Amino acid sequence: MAIPSILCIAGHDPTGGAGLQADIEAVAAQGGHALGLVTALTAQDTDNVQYVYPTPRESMQQQADCLLADCAVSAIKIGLIGSPDQLPLLAGWIRTLGVPAVIDPVLRAGGGAALLDDRQAGLLLDVLLPLATVLVPNAAEVRRLGGDTDAETAALRLLHRTGVPHLLVTGGDEPGSAVCNRWYRPGADPVVFEWPRIPGRFHGAGCTLASALAARIALGEPMAQALARAQDYTNRALASAIAPGRGRAIPARWAASRAG
Ligand code: PLP
Repeated sequence: MAIPSILCIAGHDPTGGAGLQADIEAVAAQGGHALGLVTALTAQDTDNVQYVYPTPRESMQQQADCLLADCAVSAIKIGLIGSPDQLPLLAGWIRTLGVPAVIDPVLRAGGGAALLDDRQAGLLLDVLLPLATVLVPNAAEVRRLGGDTDAETAALRLLHRTGVPHLLVTGGDEPGSAVCNRWYRPGADPVVFEWPRIPGRFHGAGCTLASALAARIALGEPMAQALARAQDYTNRALASAIAPGRGRAIPARWAASRAG
């Protein structure tokens, strides 16, 4: 049975809320298979990240050499970067594999911990983000990467600066009774996806959405459908979120069916 493999390049979150575990669950729920490269181990709880232990560049290279000599990859999803010296490796894999890449430019944990400083965020912007097929920042990330306090202006700047074909800005962390995600493309009006806000604070929503999207693209869905279905899936996983710790709840990725 042919199941597309999605190369997920992400950090490990021991709570299982975010990072590679989120990716694996979200990809599997769409009917894909996740291949996993760990950029960093982390020490964190369901509220915030305390420490990041980057994977040495040589180790990542050796893991990828073994993996990519063996397994075919249909799409790539990139989340947390462990250290800036990993960026040229990741850029090389996107170029060599020539498959769609969904990049979630993780700059800060939901609990507030900075995961990339300004210099590292600048390198991410220059080296990696222009290679994305779809960028999936949240509104705070787009403001920082696009260099404007207005998220809309920043999104248009980021689109122009990176030259990416698709940018989905998520609004889950913005105030309001509705969650508005905006899909930007060069030369087209933004498309707004609006969802009633699900009460609560969540950990791992961004990873869930980006991975589900990568899997949907790998399954061959057109971008509009992949975006709609990945968001719908994430919304349903959040609606039945569980709380394994005392902090934020995590999406029930295995309970949300792939349909929709
Ligand atoms: N830990 C890892 C490994 C992550 O990749 C991320 C976000 O992508 C986080 C923690 C923070 O997740 P959240 O912002 O949902 O708390």
